[in-house]
Amino acid sequence: MNFKKKRVLVTGGAGYIGAHVCQSLQPTQCDVAIIDNLSTGFESNIQNGELHPIDLNEWDSINQFIAEYKPDAVIHFAGSIVVPESVKNPLKYYQNNTANTLNLIRSCISNNVKNFLFSSTAAVYGIPDTGICTESDHLKPINPYGRSKLMTEMMLEDIASSSNLNYVALRYFNVAGAHESKQMGQRMPDATHLIKIIAQVLTKKRKEMAIFGFDYPTPDGTCIRDYIHVCDLAHAHVLALNYLLDGGKSAVFNCGYSKGFSVQEVVNAAKKQFGDFNILHGERRDGDPPQLIANADQIKAILGWQPKYNNLDLIIQSAVEFEKTI
Ligand code: UDP
Repeated sequence: MNFKKKRVLVTGGAGYIGAHVCQSLQPTQCDVAIIDNLSTGFESNIQNGELHPIDLNEWDSINQFIAEYKPDAVIHFAGSIVVPESVKNPLKYYQNNTANTLNLIRSCISNNVKNFLFSSTAAVYGIPDTGICTESDHLKPINPYGRSKLMTEMMLEDIASSSNLNYVALRYFNVAGAHESKQMGQRMPDATHLIKIIAQVLTKKRKEMAIFGFDYPTPDGTCIRDYIHVCDLAHAHVLALNYLLDGGKSAVFNCGYSKGFSVQEVVNAAKKQFGDFNILHGERRDGDPPQLIANADQIKAILGWQPKYNNLDLIIQSAVEFEKTI
């Protein structure tokens, strides 16, 4: 059989989600090259792929790398992901998420790269009318992070319709947990995401934590999110990559479990499993929508995605187990 390994370029492959995806790509089927400036990524996360420490701002270096490596597909994770930071420093988000991605896409087009897999976010939905997000919904992000990602989705749509490029944008809901090997995970000590913070409290790296806002229009007043295990998300990428390599047409898919938990429910689940810890009552955080839950019918129907780790206790436990190792 004339089987040729696919060359996959992964930007941000030393980061939390990128490293899990690289680990899921079979070395027998893919050669993985990672571009990461290690600003938020960690070399120790990398389990599969060769690291090239290039910054996406370095346009000439990126273009030269793509021209030489000739990837069959690019998976683009590198970017900034913290909602409150995006409110304080939108320039950083439009630079890292929008402008740098435009340069990357430009390089893909000029080097005839045909497949592009993009990390998008549920933040593109803004405040959905029903709290349940479907890909065809009207998109009205309420923070610069969501807008910076939506702009990239729009660029991809326009560019794909006038070129050979096909793309899949995966809209991540709230990604958490870690691989059972405990070799990859959220290593940033100043991470702001809820389950990471809980893991830090439970491993005594923080004394306490706050719940940001009890006056949202939800049953217990705290925000509701759809928490997805990073390994299920990684598998969604493998399926999306194969879909593109098999000639699938450009598409956008939600990645979530279609089940929401309030911040209070997540905290209660952690306490039930690991014991009590101190919770402060914080103010609302800028840019937080009350509820984001995925309608995941499309990714199931078209990519055949089936979650395996759809269990909040397991997600929290795996995050805590990883946190103990760092
Ligand atoms: N949150 C919280 N305390 C924290 C961190 C997060 O109450 O220390 C809340 C946050 O306000 C939001 C939810 O948890 O309502 C999820 O936030 P996260 O930062 O994990 O993800 P986001 O939805 O912003 O991408």
